[in-house]
Order: sequence, then structure tokens, then C-alpha cells
Amino acid sequence: MKQKEIESEKELKEVLKKIPYKDNKQRNNIICSLIGHSRISTMCIGYRHCGRCEDLLGDNLGSVDYGQPGAVIRGHNCGTCRTT
Ligand SMILES: [Zn+2]
Ligand SMILES: [Zn+2]
Repeated sequence: MKQKEIESEKELKEVLKKIPYKDNKQRNNIICSLIGHSRISTMCIGYRHCGRCEDLLGDNLGSVDYGQPGAVIRGHNCGTCRTT
């Protein structure tokens, strides 16, 4: 099942205008639910998160989808990652 209603940034902005959100985090969550997760991901102690909404997308235990076309893993810099 693929959601294919929004095809441009302009359309996305129009849709966002009609959806109430209280902060950036919530806005990012809405964007991801509309157009799918960002191709940019962050990697944190073996877990991969969406670079936009920070949802957990996969992990190193087998469910990770590095094969996604154009996927970019962005370095993570949280307290946990810096100390390892
Ligand atoms: Zn996301
Ligand atoms: Zn981290």
C-alpha cells in the first residue's frame, strides 16, 4: 500500500495548513504520515530512526532496510553515542 496523494512540497504545505499542530515535532510526525519517512536516518546504538520525526525504523538485528534507494544514514550525536 503506497500513499501517493502528495507529490510536491507545495501540495504538502497546502495540506499542512489545514492540519492543526502544536510544535515542530508534531508537524514532522504529520509530514511523515503523509509522505512517508525521510530518506535521511540517524543511527543510534544499533537502532535506526527517521531523520525527520525520529520514529524507530529498524535495527541492526535484521529488520534494517539499508537497501532503501537513496537512504542516507546520518551520524548521531546523542550522549549515548558520544561515550561509546
Ligand atoms: Zn519519520
Ligand atoms: Zn545516539
